[in-house]
Amino acid sequence: MNLSKKFLFFLSIFLFQFLFSTTYFIRVGIKSNIKSFYLSPYRKNKILFQHKTKEVNVLKVNQKTICVFIKPDKIKILNKIYKLPIRLYSEGKLKINDGVYAGEIEVFSKDGKTINLVNILNIESYLYGVVPYEIEPMWTDEMLKIQSIIARTYTIVNLNRHREDGFDVCSTVHCQVYKGINENMELRIKKAVDSTKGLVVVDKKNEQPIQTYYHAVCGGATENVTEVWPGLPYNIKALSGVKCDFCKNSPYYSWRQSFSLNEFILKLKNNGDDVGNKIKNIDILSKTEHGRIKNLQILGNKNKIEVSGENLRRILGYNKIRSTKIYKIEIKDNKIIFYGKGWGHGVGLCQWGANELTKQGKKFKEVIEYYYPKTKIKKLY
Ligand SMILES: [Zn+2]
Ligand SMILES: [Zn+2]
Repeated sequence: MNLSKKFLFFLSIFLFQFLFSTTYFIRVGIKSNIKSFYLSPYRKNKILFQHKTKEVNVLKVNQKTICVFIKPDKIKILNKIYKLPIRLYSEGKLKINDGVYAGEIEVFSKDGKTINLVNILNIESYLYGVVPYEIEPMWTDEMLKIQSIIARTYTIVNLNRHREDGFDVCSTVHCQVYKGINENMELRIKKAVDSTKGLVVVDKKNEQPIQTYYHAVCGGATENVTEVWPGLPYNIKALSGVKCDFCKNSPYYSWRQSFSLNEFILKLKNNGDDVGNKIKNIDILSKTEHGRIKNLQILGNKNKIEVSGENLRRILGYNKIRSTKIYKIEIKDNKIIFYGKGWGHGVGLCQWGANELTKQGKKFKEVIEYYYPKTKIKKLY
């Protein structure tokens, strides 16, 4: 090996290590326990696949080629049968049912009865498919950067959530909604993700990424995590409540919701609480430091019960009782009316408030460090 060849050899090793160390890959569970799926080329690209043997094959699939699972561990594609697991990929992206995916798709069976599809791609490409579902289109570019940073941090902190299922995160609200790459994705989202590449929110002291919870509107102040999810091992300092009236111009700042008394009684009954057929009184027993209901008491003609604020939301519906920041409850004309502020659990960042701060010229670092006290932004890769 002459000197220049040696140099190139070492340069390529260095570049490989550099690329490897700066790319985080993620396994996203996109379909679970299915029997078949449609596979299509994206822009006439060839679809390739690889089984365990590492041998690469070319699949000349048509538009919407059906792939059918054959018990216990095989799959049939275009009249040929292959042993699972296999990995599908293409020169560009590929289409599974109606979703377009970057990276690779792993097909495997866990139970010998159904198959699971996992999308393996780098975290930055994954975020292109997550951020669009967490924002409002009229928010500022700076707010989209904030959303990219907190979604990235949330992803990295929750990578272990589905280890037993064979992937890192699922594609529903349980983790974060992900529907593959949005073909009409706004350039704005790509820009926001790219310009914050590798940035995460960490604890100022131990530099560990924090659980970046967020909600739409806090309604005046965010909430201490210990009040909402007591006993869970969260970073208490980073998730403590702060004042925020920046969200007061949001369309969701205050709300009112009424139920007929019969409907209210029935919903309690369906939850296993029989108070009788009349409501005599309803009282707020205790509130949190930042004004959310901890406990309330419902007095019926048969029974008296205590319900926590969180349970009230669950019983009556999260979208009807938008938050536990309820300041007045009224019983009149056979109706019960709840008056409240904000939308969501109130922990962490208030999205509408954060957007307002960016409109006033604040940058992402300042806004994030406001809503997550005692944290800073760190470049992870
Ligand atoms: Zn999940
Ligand atoms: Zn707010």
